[in-house]
Amino acid sequence: MINLVKGTHDVILDEAKKYEAVESVFRDLASLYGFKEFRTPILEHSELFQRSVGDSSDIVRKEMYTFLDKGERSLTLRPELTAGIMRSIVNNKLLALDEGPVKAFYLGPCFRYERPQAGRYRQFNQFGIEMVGINDIYRDVEVITFGYHALKVMGFENLTLKINTLGDKETREKYNRALKEYFSKHIDSMCGDCKERFNLNVLRILDCKIKEDQEIVKNAPKIQDYLSDNAKDRFERVLESLKELNIEYEVDQNLVRGLDYYSDVVFEFHYTSKKGVNYGAIGAGGHYSNLFRELGGNKDLEGCGVAFGIERIVSVLEDDGSLEKIKNSVNVYIMPSSDVTRSFASLLAKELRTNGASTDICYENKSMKSMLKKADKLSAIVGIILNDDLLKENKTIVKNLVTTEQEEVSTEHLLDRVFDILVSEIKKKEAEDHEHEEDCDCEECHHHHEE
Ligand code: ATP
Ligand code: MG
Repeated sequence: MINLVKGTHDVILDEAKKYEAVESVFRDLASLYGFKEFRTPILEHSELFQRSVGDSSDIVRKEMYTFLDKGERSLTLRPELTAGIMRSIVNNKLLALDEGPVKAFYLGPCFRYERPQAGRYRQFNQFGIEMVGINDIYRDVEVITFGYHALKVMGFENLTLKINTLGDKETREKYNRALKEYFSKHIDSMCGDCKERFNLNVLRILDCKIKEDQEIVKNAPKIQDYLSDNAKDRFERVLESLKELNIEYEVDQNLVRGLDYYSDVVFEFHYTSKKGVNYGAIGAGGHYSNLFRELGGNKDLEGCGVAFGIERIVSVLEDDGSLEKIKNSVNVYIMPSSDVTRSFASLLAKELRTNGASTDICYENKSMKSMLKKADKLSAIVGIILNDDLLKENKTIVKNLVTTEQEEVSTEHLLDRVFDILVSEIKKKEAEDHEHEEDCDCEECHHHHEE
């Protein structure tokens, strides 16, 4: 028998559906935000990652699957996708004209030679977005909002968004000097990786996961004290804007991210499942300012992106038992009572779907009770009940499944009424989520008030 390669996994039988459920939330939402899919190769020149992800990152130092092909070229199985997207934007001259940002999303396998453990594979899948060619903090905010929105749609409740700034070049030069001075006194007692980081990129030490080293990191100088006025202003405006959007966050001054290309805002989404399992960051990203030029672009263009680990998201949702919900959820459930009404139901579903409301129909001959049960299982917000007599008079029954109120609505006003209810219920739900976080005493919710 030949075994799986260590750190890889099969997705078999019913499992693929779980992946698809998560992936389709990402895809649909990305389209809603105006992102277009990019499919770049898995194989890239090794130099691409050395120049972008950076020589001081763990990824380039020790996690890449790099080999010489038969033509003696050094190739690497991509450890992440941002670099490939950037390369493709440069190669295809997508930003040659000043047409504003390229908005790309991607989904596909990545490879990293890491020690396999819960939520950590050697081949795993990432979904991500990149917004390239930007100069406004609101673009950064949009990327963060997208990530937050996607995870909320999937049913993540007590999500923690950790955020920090790495400042601009001026900031980092000053900060690096301060860190060097501080760590020079401690480096002899720190781990081998940190010793290497000390020489390559001292900032990386803040990311060390070893307990003893973390104690030393605790007392290290904080970047907030070294921010240039410009960098400080940018960061404050990002935070301000997140507050306006009701997006909870926690500033974490030691968050530096494992890739070298970031500057200014960086962030991670963390989540602990209801059973208490912490799979680490389920998604992470940040702003970058040199990547475009570094990869051969002819000007300074900034960008911002976020990437999610699909396996981690599937595991967490599965632990929480919420995977079933996203796999099967629709906005509207249509309940016809006869063949006449079934043919009307098909037309109606087509209208609703064309207008963006996900819709399902009960075509089986079922009792009202069991149809309503199914609607509940699908987490539908609106139910439409069709019966022969009413339909003859061009009337239907619209049931708000959240409040259970129902009313007769003429077919002429049906679409408007359904969308009214959808919009108001979705708004109510958002407000409730927010209120929960304000009243709640739990740790995840608490940090925001302390800001
Ligand atoms: P970590 O700190 O957990 O190593 P990272 O900083 O290396 O994460 P990124 O490079 O930012 O992660 O990748 C984005 C996301 O991809 C992570 O938040 C995580 O969900 C996922 N991811 C990263 N490495 C792996 C892996 N080896 N196996 C599965 N998922 C991963
Ligand atoms: Mg890593």
